[in-house]
Amino acid sequence: MDELLTQIRACRLCAPRFAATRTAHRPAPVVWLDPRARILVAGQAPGIQAHQKQRPFDDRSGDRLRDWMGVTREEFYDLANLAFLPAAFCFPGYDAKGSDLPPPAICAQTWHDRVMAGLPDLRLTLLIGAYSQRFHLGTRTSMTETVAGWRDHLPGVIPLPHPSWRNTAWLKRNPWFETDLLPVLRADVRKALS
Ligand code: SF4
Repeated sequence: MDELLTQIRACRLCAPRFAATRTAHRPAPVVWLDPRARILVAGQAPGIQAHQKQRPFDDRSGDRLRDWMGVTREEFYDLANLAFLPAAFCFPGYDAKGSDLPPPAICAQTWHDRVMAGLPDLRLTLLIGAYSQRFHLGTRTSMTETVAGWRDHLPGVIPLPHPSWRNTAWLKRNPWFETDLLPVLRADVRKALS
């Protein structure tokens, strides 16, 4: 795993693509992985804050995700607990509307299988957002349909919406997420970490 992490951190495959975005940034893979991890958070590409801090979910979205999971910041960032495998390791830049661009497909194609082979102790996988749900489940359903069918993927996999403030209205429209799914998520997280 050490050699693989070094290779990912040095990856510059998307340099021309990122240079052409409005932020004209350089690749800066956010790598938070350890073979001891028991929970995998498979999300989208890092946002600008994760890019700048070089730490996944160190923002308000992360606060909401930690609340959903029922874990402290210390538990969340303990490498023996959680590993993060985003659809791309680097911030992809912004589109014309100021939203994050899609994660470059080449990232998962290049790294996904090798990372998964280095995580032998996973007990629970959280699939955050449509990109990771489609990639890991091979589905073509919308995020809402996939999350609504969360029981189909138990045990071991739970699909979730992105914990962004942009999804606050979604959470209000889907109260079953809080009443039905979150208690199971918290119990499964606790079991995976015990
Ligand atoms: S997004 Fe992935 S493939 Fe592209 S430069 Fe970053 S680590 Fe490499």
